[in-house]
Amino acid sequence: MKITRIETFLVPPRWLFCRVETDDGVVGWGEPVVEGRAEVVRAAVDVLAEYLVGQDPLRIQDHWQVLTKGGFYRGGPVLSSAVAGLDQALWDIAGKTYGAPVHALLGGPVRDRVRVYAWVGGDEPAELSEQIAAQVEAGFTAVKMNAAGATSPVTTLAETTAVVARVAAAREVLGADRDVAVDFHGRFSAAGARRVLTELAPLHPLFVEEPVLPEHGRLLAGLVESSPIPLATGERLYGRAEFLPVLAAGIAVAQPDLSHAGGISEVHRIASLAETYGAQLAPHCPLGPIALAASLQIAFATPNFLIQEQSRGIHYNKDADLLSYLVDPEPFRFVDGHAARPLAPGLGISVDEAAVRAADRGGHAWRNPVWRHPDGSFAEW
Ligand SMILES: [Mg+2]
Repeated sequence: MKITRIETFLVPPRWLFCRVETDDGVVGWGEPVVEGRAEVVRAAVDVLAEYLVGQDPLRIQDHWQVLTKGGFYRGGPVLSSAVAGLDQALWDIAGKTYGAPVHALLGGPVRDRVRVYAWVGGDEPAELSEQIAAQVEAGFTAVKMNAAGATSPVTTLAETTAVVARVAAAREVLGADRDVAVDFHGRFSAAGARRVLTELAPLHPLFVEEPVLPEHGRLLAGLVESSPIPLATGERLYGRAEFLPVLAAGIAVAQPDLSHAGGISEVHRIASLAETYGAQLAPHCPLGPIALAASLQIAFATPNFLIQEQSRGIHYNKDADLLSYLVDPEPFRFVDGHAARPLAPGLGISVDEAAVRAADRGGHAWRNPVWRHPDGSFAEW
């Protein structure tokens, strides 16, 4: 079997899909994207496709080596995401060729269902209670929220108080039997994070995500020491080598993104690395259906898995949502806040190719907002 063609599709709301075709007629799908930089990743996929076309798609490990290392320069969000989407498509082809879901090829299922959480509140959280009540009504047992909008370099009393009030409001709706995770989005300084984490501890968040920016990862060990809240990070880390220091710092939850951190191949390895540090895996996935399908395959094959992010109804999804490009929405029909084990070969979803091709004709130009502090200076989003 040989790869004969690789195409990319820029589809709303902010995604990029790739389609890998073989001379056997087997087709694999992947989602190689960096949110806000989809066109750049598309160009990277085109360059990597020059190597892959003509190759045997089943040599996934060897292709991963060449695609990540064969260009001499390596790593970073664009190249790692391009490889990630292609890697997903190759696993999809492998599963369809061997007649097995990807998690079966990774060693078989280690759980019967996968807990998923829902987003509430958008980028600047407000009116949370109503949204949380709706997610509880829909059966979710956990939600995630941003704690704050743009935040001062040294968090003020007013900002700290507002964050704590929001999480307290969430806890009130959720009660003691459901969970809230809080995403700091790297908006806090380490000093600010320490202060807010202390105040949040009595509300028992499941975890706090990106308490500081990825480039300040060396400060995580101090935060781990100073807070009882499990700390999470990883959506802006792109491979094992970048996870090693944060795991050594003592993070409790590793959050590699299947579309950023080298795909199924690399996230499977990151999961094992996390296991050796006693950390749990919670794959980042505010993205589309192919990234989520890949995440669920990993979730079913990973012993040290915690919970799965998913993007149904997320604030980014305008013009299209998680189900817009699927022939059958069943794989993402969550029951009691859980996803069922996919039994179909490959990634376990059927992509609606006609819908994808039609959407690509319109494309998108999604960019994240650029935020400013009240004095006009740049603020982390
Ligand atoms: Mg996040």
